[in-house]
Order: sequence, then C-alpha cells, then structure tokens
Amino acid sequence: MSSEKIAIYPGTFDPITRGHLDIIERGSSLFDRIIVTLAINQSKEPLFTLEERIEMIRDAVKNIKNVTVEKFDGLLVTFAAQKKANVILRGLRAISDFEYEFQMALMNQHLENKITTVFLMPNEKYTYLNSTIIKDIAKFGGNVERFVTAFVAQKLKKKLEGKM
Ligand code: ADP
Repeated sequence: MSSEKIAIYPGTFDPITRGHLDIIERGSSLFDRIIVTLAINQSKEPLFTLEERIEMIRDAVKNIKNVTVEKFDGLLVTFAAQKKANVILRGLRAISDFEYEFQMALMNQHLENKITTVFLMPNEKYTYLNSTIIKDIAKFGGNVERFVTAFVAQKLKKKLEGKM
C-alpha cells in the first residue's frame, strides 16, 4: 500500500481567492499531494463555468508542485477513494462556517469512515473573504487585486463586462 498522503480540497471556487490559495499552500506543505476538486453538478449556479474555474485555479497553483485540479461527478467520498485520498481538506474562517462544515464532515465520515476531514485556518487577513464578496466588489468596479490573482481579476472584469 502506498503511504503517500493525498488530500482532496473540494469547493466551488467561483472564483478562486487568495483565501482558497492560502489553504492550498498550507495543505501542500502538510500533504504529499493536494487535488483541488470541483463538482460537475451542483445546486449552486456559479458565475464562471466549470472550465473557467479550473483554468483560474490551474493558473493560481502553477508554481506549487504537488497540487493538481480535477472535476468529479457523484459523491465526494467515492472520488476520494478512487484517488486513494484519505483526507478532505476544508477551510474554516469563522464560527459561521462551522455548522455547515460540521454537518458535511460528519456525513462524509458516516459514508466513508476511512476519510478524515481536516480543517485549516487561513491567515487572518483572509478570514472575511469569500467569492461572493469578491464578485460584488468587482460588479461595482472596486479593485479586487488584493484578494485574487491578477489573472482572476482580469477574468472577473471581462465576465462582468459581458465579454466572456
Ligand atoms: P463550497 O461551495 O464547497 O463552500 P467554496 O469555494 O466556497 O466552496 O469553499 C471551498 C472551501 O474553501 C471551504 O472549505 C471554505 O470554507 C474554504 N474557504 C473559502 N474562502 C476561504 C477563505 N477566505 N479562507 C479560508 N478558507 C476559505
């Protein structure tokens, strides 16, 4: 059996922010491999298509060697097992995240006891950051470059101007 420690980091990433990146960077120093994972079908209606979100993540993590990006269909724990990942990585920003994360982690544990959810906290400067706030700031012409990569900022501008 391989002793490689593989973690999957699931999310919507609509779009990826520096908060997400902070979690990926911390995770990449703790695990041998991180697979950033996006659901093909989900109830949320994202601003960016799946392929656009993947492209932005790939660009953001291009200098981190042990990080890859993949999409999946179906149950997260099934995908994790296929990838031989025994950790689900999630970020915790505030108490407001707790209830939902707690429920998801316990449900995933119920479905597959071998998979453990690990929570990491980002640098405190990112604790108030989420993709929705970024989209709102960008919509009203605010500068989002402190919160997302230059590539994402440019994609946001184009998308909101209807050029994408
Ligand atoms: P989901 O729809 O699964 O919540 P998100 O893309 O919103 O997807 O978030 C993916 C994960 O990243 C979640 O664990 C979330 O708590 C975490 N996350 C989101 N924004 C931040 C941030 N600013 N700092 C740390 N973790 C974050």
